[in-house]
Parts: sequence; structure tokens; C-alpha cells
Amino acid sequence: MISTRAARQCLDDQLPVDVRALARIGALAAGQLTEWRWPAGEEPCAGVALGCDSHLELRLGDPSHCRLVMLRIVCTPCTFGGVRQWFLCPQCRGRCAVLYAAAGFQCRRCMALPYRSQRQRRRGRALLRANKIRGRMGWPPGLFAPDGQRPKGMHERTFARCQETLDQLAIEYLQGRDAR
Ligand SMILES: [Zn+2]
Repeated sequence: MISTRAARQCLDDQLPVDVRALARIGALAAGQLTEWRWPAGEEPCAGVALGCDSHLELRLGDPSHCRLVMLRIVCTPCTFGGVRQWFLCPQCRGRCAVLYAAAGFQCRRCMALPYRSQRQRRRGRALLRANKIRGRMGWPPGLFAPDGQRPKGMHERTFARCQETLDQLAIEYLQGRDAR
């Protein structure tokens, strides 16, 4: 399954392990043995978690020759009492709620991949805003369509501001995130 793994580009396609979800079903309690299964066709397809005080032992894949992974768990106090549990990312040692399994266990920051849906939403938003501005100018839609003339009656400063915004939206679109 190496080829499909390499083809995965977005976090949505990775196999997540969520500490909050595990806590909710009691999988983090010491001595607790929990089994779960990722969607079929993915690898590793199944896991067993053995809860301990400060770590979670994962046994991934086929029980006869499974892969053992130890994930550190740390607690922080909650504002209204109790504690919140976190994974320590094996790569950066930072606290995180979700680790992604596909490329070895690591957090979102380490993978440095944007969420696909988030990226698409931002791209869609940038395009929508650009088309609205272009519509006001009587220009054809499309972020990278050629610019037309300054509309009659539109102030020079307004026109310049619109162009500036369009440039910024193009950058947002290309980067798939909000430009700063
Ligand atoms: Zn990390």
C-alpha cells in the first residue's frame, strides 16, 4: 500500500488517532484494552490500544505480526476542574489532540499539510469575492482573467483599492490560505 500512502496529500486522507475520542470511550484508562478499525482498504487497518498512566500502547495491523507504537500522554488542568489529556507528538514533542498515522505518528504541524476542505473553502471564498468585485467593474469573472478598464464614474482611489484586493485574493487562492 506504499503507492496509495505516497499519493495522500491532505490530512483528511491520513489515519487520525484522536486522544479526545479515545478518552471518551475510556480507552485511556490504565489497563484498558480497546480495539478499533480504520476504514477498509487503509493500512494499518486495525489497532489495539492499551491504556497506561502516561502512555498509550498501540498495536497496529495483523495481530500475529503487529507493529508496536508507544504514544506519550500528558495532562493539563482544565479551567473548570479535571484534566485534559493530550498526545505528545513523537516528532516535535509538542502537545496535540490528534496524531496522524500514515506517515509515522505525527501531529498536524509536523505534517505541515493543510486540510483539504479548509483549503477548498478558502479558495472558493477568494474566487467568490473576486468575482463580486469584477462584476462591479463589468469585467468577466475569474481570478486570473484579464483586467478591463476602470468603469465610468468609479473613483481612481476606489479602482486602485479594488485592484489591490484582487491581487491579494489571487495570492490567497494560490496559497490556499488567508493572506496576511
Ligand atoms: Zn509534531
